[in-house]
Amino acid sequence: MTIVVLSLGDLETNCYVVWDDPDRALVIDPADDPDSILTVIRSKGLTVQAVLLTHVHFDHMLAAEAVCQATGAPLWAGAGDEPALGDPGRNLSTWLPGGQAVTLTADRLLREGDRLSMGGQTLTVWETPGHTPGCICLVGDGVLFSGDTLFCGSIGRIDFPGGDVTAMRASLSRLCALPDETAVYSGHGPATTIGREKMSNPYLR
Ligand SMILES: [Zn+2]
Repeated sequence: MTIVVLSLGDLETNCYVVWDDPDRALVIDPADDPDSILTVIRSKGLTVQAVLLTHVHFDHMLAAEAVCQATGAPLWAGAGDEPALGDPGRNLSTWLPGGQAVTLTADRLLREGDRLSMGGQTLTVWETPGHTPGCICLVGDGVLFSGDTLFCGSIGRIDFPGGDVTAMRASLSRLCALPDETAVYSGHGPATTIGREKMSNPYLR
């Protein structure tokens, strides 16, 4: 699987463009700046099968509408976060200056066990509530896209609307059961591995 990471916007949110088969690429978390994302898509000759959100917070979806429009790709999001798509209070876009509140509609709601075929590899949807009710992680062969559930050295905040510390603990335990060598690509910050986080992440002790 080829993975291109773009760190975008004021919150340095990671957007991942991933593909095995260039005709079935996925854009994970289209953060700020559609031009950067579309430049990758065009320069690599990719066809985007879907734009998907690990969770519905504004910094992970600011470019969603523009990227979907330019590529014709559908928008997929975790079923548990559906209410936040149309609610700027829940997706936190009320924080944005100038009243540019964001509302979106998903073309498909992703649920536990959904399998996203990329041609060669398949990514499986895990529902990992805690940071938001509908947070999802994408689990592939030796790879995890963890959104804002697990970061290198930290975890996602649970003090936003819909945050849930008990659910977060359960979600993190689940991720920790993945093989140590699993590469972790999170919503903010550098990549890591499950083994490294189990050794050094203070929130996983
Ligand atoms: Zn978030």
